[in-house]
Amino acid sequence: MLAQMMDQPLLISSLIGHAAKWHGDTEIVTRTLEGPIHRYDWRAAEVRAKKFAQALSRLGVKHGDRIGTIAWNTYRHVEAYYGVAGMGAVTHTINPRLFPEQLEYIINHADDQYLVIDTSFVDLVAGMRDKFPNIRGIIVFADKANMPSEDKLPGALCYEELLELEHGDYEWPTFDENSAAALCYTSGTTGNPKGALYSHRSTVLHTLTEIAPDCMGLAARDTVLPVVPMFHVNAWGLPYATAAVGCKLVLPGRDLDGKSIYELLTQEKVSFTAAVPTIWMMLLAHMKEANGKLDDLERVVIGGSACPRAMMETFQDEYDVQVLHAWGMTEMSPLGTVNTPKAKHDVLSKTQKVDLQQSAGRVLYGVDMKIVDEDGITLPNDGEATGELKVRGPWIIADYFNLSEKAPAHAEDGWFSTGDVCAIDQDGYIWITDRLKDVIKSGGEWISSIDLENVAVGHPKVAEAAAIGVHHPKWDERPLLVIVPTANGQDLTKEDVLGYLEGKIAKWWMPDDVAFAEDLPHTATGKLSKLQLRQRFKDYKLPTA
Ligand code: AMP
Repeated sequence: MLAQMMDQPLLISSLIGHAAKWHGDTEIVTRTLEGPIHRYDWRAAEVRAKKFAQALSRLGVKHGDRIGTIAWNTYRHVEAYYGVAGMGAVTHTINPRLFPEQLEYIINHADDQYLVIDTSFVDLVAGMRDKFPNIRGIIVFADKANMPSEDKLPGALCYEELLELEHGDYEWPTFDENSAAALCYTSGTTGNPKGALYSHRSTVLHTLTEIAPDCMGLAARDTVLPVVPMFHVNAWGLPYATAAVGCKLVLPGRDLDGKSIYELLTQEKVSFTAAVPTIWMMLLAHMKEANGKLDDLERVVIGGSACPRAMMETFQDEYDVQVLHAWGMTEMSPLGTVNTPKAKHDVLSKTQKVDLQQSAGRVLYGVDMKIVDEDGITLPNDGEATGELKVRGPWIIADYFNLSEKAPAHAEDGWFSTGDVCAIDQDGYIWITDRLKDVIKSGGEWISSIDLENVAVGHPKVAEAAAIGVHHPKWDERPLLVIVPTANGQDLTKEDVLGYLEGKIAKWWMPDDVAFAEDLPHTATGKLSKLQLRQRFKDYKLPTA
């Protein structure tokens, strides 16, 4: 027997519709690329999103067409998110930090019809214009005064002029909730980037989970600053989640340095923010120098790569900001786990609570998880056994976008293989030790590169650390620790580092050597690129070899 409930599709337009109707006077604040702070509210944002939807229709954009955006976190980008998806097309957010060949690949692979770009990417796009034969036009997020010259980007359309032509009196169309809404490519450390194509349904379900107390716990009274870019898995869903709760949204534009972020956090009284550890490293360094305080900030989400313990302790002990350690992937929209405590953890000591926070989080309703060994056999959730993490759920991809050949991660058995290695405990906290391909295999046992790095960055003279496996004739691989010293740590020695690690890690995990470097290679999303690092050290001879 079928139930008698309203069959209302879960559409992204309903999120901004709700924000505009019931939180219409709540502010959206942007640091513009031109410099000044721009302010308006959810009501005005929805009108302009609708105007953009109308403009796209006028340009001939149809249901399912992909519209690429190359843009920072700004109010115009938020309007494009809703205007594009709301009218039934697909927002393809593009990471401008990808290599030119990758940009060319994904824009053509996605078959983008239009590109909507910030003025800071005009040179990038102009230099590659002939590489995108299918692009019908380029829209620049600017008013007339800030448009590039005609000879720089011939035929470029002005976003504000397009909006001026429309009245904004527009009903969001209704269609199948399984229609594609947004497309995001993985950063592609090996081979070509692969696309994750999210639906309206998956996005709305992900949003409902995101705002829940055991996830990000967002509320109408919050002020949210997503520092994580809107081209990195939809800023972890925050442009949707903030609309669902109708809270104040603060957008940093392109200035992501410590000083600029600190100004926004304090001036706009931000209560909640989110980014990868690299961003927080810059913020904490700035605050130390400037003797800063974070009176309004309550929670900071740290994810995308493992959050070092020292960073957690600084936020919590020195600035009284709760850290929410989170784990996810582009292929998962991205949320999989968020680290929030249970009632039984109230009795833990302060140190034990931080110990628990080293877990990348506790599984969320909507995401099912298991770990398997090399033969695919399911391992126990005892917090000890480690294996490859597999996941399934309504906001996890079933397949990559438009790949004729099957990608290795394809969910043949109904589970998506994450490529991450972890332990899961009985409460569903996951303890990530590595990417499957980064794990250091010493004498048949696995050494966690992430654990080595996390301990090493606790040393006050270590700015960044990376552990990789280097060939060893007896053990197959042994760890090499590569250290970037801080500005005042130039006198740091191998003995200092190894002495610091002693007693903090298992004896047989002790790196066979320590190398010092001025910098470490990073991917387009700011993660350590172990692939490039292994390349750099491919001929390295360990002293123990
Ligand atoms: P991306 O798709 O670019 O967001 O990258 C997803 C990958 O980032 C995951 O598969 C993990 O390897 C890594 N990652 C994300 N969050 C964490 C975390 N909290 N700890 C360790 N690794 C993480």
